[in-house]
Amino acid sequence: MIAKPLYTATPVYKSYATSKQTNAEVFYKMECYQPSGSFKIRGMDVLVNDLVGKGHKKVVASSGGNAGYSLAYIGQQRGIAVHLVVPKTTSEYMINKIKLVGAQVDVFGENWDDANLYATDISEKYNLPYVPPFDHPLLWKGHSTIIDECALQMSEPDKVVVSVGGGGLLCGIFEGLLRNKWNKVKVITAETEGAASFAKSFEANRLVKLNEVNTIATSLAAKQVVLQSLQYANRFEVEPYVMSDKTAFTGCQDFFKEFHTLVEPACGAALSFARNNVVKQGEKIVVIVCGGVNMGIEKYLEYVKTFS
Ligand SMILES: *Cc1c(COP(=O)(O)O)cnc(C)c1O
Repeated sequence: MIAKPLYTATPVYKSYATSKQTNAEVFYKMECYQPSGSFKIRGMDVLVNDLVGKGHKKVVASSGGNAGYSLAYIGQQRGIAVHLVVPKTTSEYMINKIKLVGAQVDVFGENWDDANLYATDISEKYNLPYVPPFDHPLLWKGHSTIIDECALQMSEPDKVVVSVGGGGLLCGIFEGLLRNKWNKVKVITAETEGAASFAKSFEANRLVKLNEVNTIATSLAAKQVVLQSLQYANRFEVEPYVMSDKTAFTGCQDFFKEFHTLVEPACGAALSFARNNVVKQGEKIVVIVCGGVNMGIEKYLEYVKTFS
C-alpha cells in the first residue's frame, strides 16, 4: 500500500523585492511551508515508507536539526517510534521541539561524530534501521519532487539556487532536473565559508573532507558531501557560491521582511545569491527556500545584534 505523502506541494512565489533590486525575475520555492518547516520531510517520508513496508516499527538517527525533526514528525504521523541521539551542542530549543512531536531524545557526546557513533551502535545492538541525514538514494528521490512541482508551476528557469550541507538536497535537485529535462539550468550551490565542503570538492574534482566546520548555518555543517553530488554535477553547468555568515543572514532578513517567515541561515545562504551577484536583466532564477526550524525570534534578534 502506498501511503499518502506527509509532505505538501509548496507554492512558487515571485520575490518582488529581490526582482526589483536585481532586474532579474526571482522566484522562491517555499519549502519553509512544509509541516516540518523544511524540505527534509520529502526524503524522510519516502525513506520511512520503505522501512515501514519492510515491517520496521522503530528507527534510530543522530540529527538534532531538521532531519531529526522531520523524522520525528513522520514517526508521530505514521506510528513509528523514533530514537534520536544528539550531541551536547544541540540547543534546548531543538530538543524541546523534537520531543514535542513524540521522539525519544538522548543527548550524547561533544559533537555530531560522537553522537552518530553511539546511534550506529544502538542500531546494530537492537537491529534497528539507522536513518541518515543526507546520504541515501531514497532521500534524494523524495527531495527530487521539489523540481517535479516546479515544472508544473513555472517555465524552465535559467538558474536554480540550492544550499548544500551534505549534498542530499542537491542530489535530489539534480535528479528532478534530469527527470523533467531541465538540462540547461545552471545550478548555483550555496554554502557559507565555514562549511564549503561542496565548493572545495567541486574545485578539486574529487571528494575533499574539511578538517573542521564553523558557521552559524549549522544545517550546512557537513565535513564532506556525498560522492553522488559530484557525479551529478559533471552533467550540469554548476557554479559554487560561497559567502560569509553575515551575508547568509542578510538572506534571512530580506526574506523575513518580504514573507514574514523565519528561516535558518542555511536557507539565507541561498536567498542571498541574487542580491550579491551580477545577474542578467530578466534572467529567471528559482531559489529553493529550504527553510529550517532552528531559528526562533530570540536567535534572529541575537544575529541582528551580532551582525549590525
Ligand atoms: C539539511 C538542510 C540543508 C542541507 O541539506 P543537505 O542535504 O545536507 O545538503 C540546507 N538547509 C536546511 C534548512 C536543511 O535542513
